[in-house]
Amino acid sequence: MTSYSLAGRRALVTGGAQGLGEGMARALAAAGARVVIGDIDPLGKDTAASLGDGHGHVTLDVTDDASWEEAIVSTVEQVGGLDLLVNNAGIEITSLLADLDAADAARMLNVNVLGTALGIKHGFRAMRPGGAAGEGGGIINIASVAATIAFPGISVYSATKSAVDRLTRVAAMESGKLGYGVRVNCIYPGLVPTRMGAGLANDVAQIGLFGSPEEAVGAVIELTPGGRLGTVEDMADAVVFLASDASRFITGAGLPVDGGMGM
Ligand code: NAD
Repeated sequence: MTSYSLAGRRALVTGGAQGLGEGMARALAAAGARVVIGDIDPLGKDTAASLGDGHGHVTLDVTDDASWEEAIVSTVEQVGGLDLLVNNAGIEITSLLADLDAADAARMLNVNVLGTALGIKHGFRAMRPGGAAGEGGGIINIASVAATIAFPGISVYSATKSAVDRLTRVAAMESGKLGYGVRVNCIYPGLVPTRMGAGLANDVAQIGLFGSPEEAVGAVIELTPGGRLGTVEDMADAVVFLASDASRFITGAGLPVDGGMGM
């Protein structure tokens, strides 16, 4: 067994019904973990079923404290514990600052910032000594290259991802100081053409920042030394690394997985 193996680990992936979260769930399962997909979208059940036996699904709204309580209980019941939490659920609503809609901004803050903070809360409570799982573990938060660059049209989204970055650092510090035995890290994915990523390229064109979605994608690639968009697998493999013992002395870190776009 290599230090990259996740055999015997139990993971909860939020927003795992589709997109990056689905890829992360598949990669964690392929590395040996038993995975529960937590998503507000009922599609999560089908995605979990497609992972095969030994995995699970729970309906979870990451913005809701009570929903988290139930999801943790259900996860521990379904897979026998909790060692890994991937706080991946997120939303993006494109807008120029001059046209900002307060309700849209509040939704992004709610899902991306509060949702991640509540995930850390319940992950800590479950994994720390004396918790429902109680064996320590790892939390991986999904920030964005948007936290490290200034791309037009995604101001509030970028702010929420900078918040995820800070939540990660403070969480790692609290875990260390209080002996929780939980490493906390984040990744900054570059643009990946999932539902969200493709939608973003459309929307920044729609509001007049680029001539077309293709032009927006071209601008992103132009800024990327790696010379292409990211893939679901690029992100999933980075999460497996941060979940595994191969990263055992890494905590409070943010790993860019963006082909160099955000350097
Ligand atoms: P996506 O829209 O394809 O999938 C997001 C998933 O989150 C969906 O299954 C959705 O149902 C779920 N979700 C939304 N609100 C939820 C809630 N309140 N509770 C539980 N689940 C909820 O998006 P994606 O591209 O897969 O993005 C996943 C994560 O990666 C997000 O945090 C996003 O900000 C981040 N990210 C994406 C990109 C990209 O280019 N796709 C780049 C950087 C970061």
